[in-house]
Amino acid sequence: MKDKLNTGIKNVRSVSRYTFGLDSIDSLPKLINDQRIKKNTKVIFFLDIYFKKNKNINKLIGYRAGDEVIFVPTKNEPSTDYIDELIKFLSNKDLKSPSAIIGMGGGITLDVAKSVSNLLTNKGKAENYQGWDLLKKPGIYKIGIPTISGTGAEATRTCVMINPRTGVKLGMNSDFTVYDQLILDPNLTKTVPRNQFFYTGMDAYIHCVESLNGTYRNEIGDSYSNQTIELCRKVFTSKDMMSIENRSKLMVASYLGGCAIATSYVGVVHPFSAGLSVVLGIHHCLANCISMRAMKEFYPEGYEDFWRMVKMQNIDIPKGICKNLNQEQYQKLYESTIIHEKPLTNALGESFKDILTRAKVIELFKGM
Ligand code: NAD
Ligand code: ZN
Repeated sequence: MKDKLNTGIKNVRSVSRYTFGLDSIDSLPKLINDQRIKKNTKVIFFLDIYFKKNKNINKLIGYRAGDEVIFVPTKNEPSTDYIDELIKFLSNKDLKSPSAIIGMGGGITLDVAKSVSNLLTNKGKAENYQGWDLLKKPGIYKIGIPTISGTGAEATRTCVMINPRTGVKLGMNSDFTVYDQLILDPNLTKTVPRNQFFYTGMDAYIHCVESLNGTYRNEIGDSYSNQTIELCRKVFTSKDMMSIENRSKLMVASYLGGCAIATSYVGVVHPFSAGLSVVLGIHHCLANCISMRAMKEFYPEGYEDFWRMVKMQNIDIPKGICKNLNQEQYQKLYESTIIHEKPLTNALGESFKDILTRAKVIELFKGM
């Protein structure tokens, strides 16, 4: 393990404010109003497509005539082109300077709201800001409201987008990407389908297993990670994983897991998961769970723990999806996994390519 006291932690920016608790969503209209008073312009709401069928949604969010509500599709993870299209749409409607942007939904919607907030004040295209600390100006004031728990997107300084031309899946990593305000209301996650609840919830657990088994460690990251794992275990070993108490615990685990990411690194699971997302289009959280099939030798304890919880909750995780692919696909899987040098070094050391040879990586994919 590298020197744990020499943390390498930069000047970490956290979410400025949050409310947490049942019905905390009721505070949204007032929070928005405070922004309307400061800047007398409209508000843009990005809502997960799931809420389109909710007839009372306008009342719940404090919508006013002239505000813009955009339902975010969740079939595909966001692309840089999609963000550019949204900016064009908002510019044509003269909505380039709203008083607030609201993101309410899963990781996809939370990330879309973050990206648009950044791009409305920083000129150019979304792809220009994929990377680290490339944004020049703060974005529009933004409120994040997660409606499914696990990715930690509500707490992090990134917003993941796929560039369809380069295949690069990378966010705008910047202090400006962090939400100004969160509303953490466990009532909102009640309707999440069981399998999806597990896949997304496990993103928090998996991040933290990877971090705690890595070499780049420090006490802050470890503390967040340990607490996140403990909460996830309580939820996923419980009889009713979606009880209100458990939804509340998982919402906290997600937030803390997001804080853990800011001060630590992932390991072997996320690079493999990224391979599945890039080559086969599998969504991030499900791809993590599928990748866990190949993780016995890297994370023996986490592996046992994870599959025990899958069994207890009777969750479906697809099997054998990489068995009969063509050579080109295997090559792409290898390349899009091994490209993640930082997490793989964190997990396996600088000579990780000696362990994860091309043949080995393909064998692991075939075993999923
Ligand atoms: P998601 O946004 O992919 O949504 C999953 C599904 O749940 C969708 O069908 C959605 O419509 C539905 N849903 C959401 N809330 C619901 C509710 N209350 N009731 C019923 N259905 C609901 O969810 P996710 O797994 O949270 O997010 C994955 C995304 O997060 C990926 O795009 C990934 O790249 C991103 N991510 C971002 C970060 C970050 O730090 N920014 C970290 C990890 C992952
Ligand atoms: Zn993740």
